[in-house]
Amino acid sequence: MWVANYDRLPTRERLAAWGMPVPITCTFCSRDTETRDHLLLSCEYSMEVWREVFFRCQPPSTSITNWAELLSWIRDARNMDMKLLRKIASQASVFHLWKQRNNLLHNQISIHAASVFSEIDREVRNIIFAKRERKHFSSLMSL
Ligand SMILES: [Zn+2]
Repeated sequence: MWVANYDRLPTRERLAAWGMPVPITCTFCSRDTETRDHLLLSCEYSMEVWREVFFRCQPPSTSITNWAELLSWIRDARNMDMKLLRKIASQASVFHLWKQRNNLLHNQISIHAASVFSEIDREVRNIIFAKRERKHFSSLMSL
């Protein structure tokens, strides 16, 4: 996520800025410039994925269209558990959206936003389950 956080992902906009002969339009929608914020947050395709994510982590009051808004939504969670859930879900979403973008770009494999969300959902559940197991294990060890 830090690569995305510091806006270091090789999006088409950044590749073009480095002089590479690539189109700068978004891989998902082919309508807007492929910047980090558009690709991962405000693109129609990504928004469909985020809608499902937000629905499970208390949705923001206004739609999130840039990175600063995403970070403040994570930060403003009402308690630590929700903050952790938002953080895990956001990291998984960014990872899977970027993975799907590359899959579409390099392998021409297009999958529905709902399937991307299923992958995110599975990963978030696995991470939470592993954290619980770890906590349970360390409490057993301290007996
Ligand atoms: Zn787009």
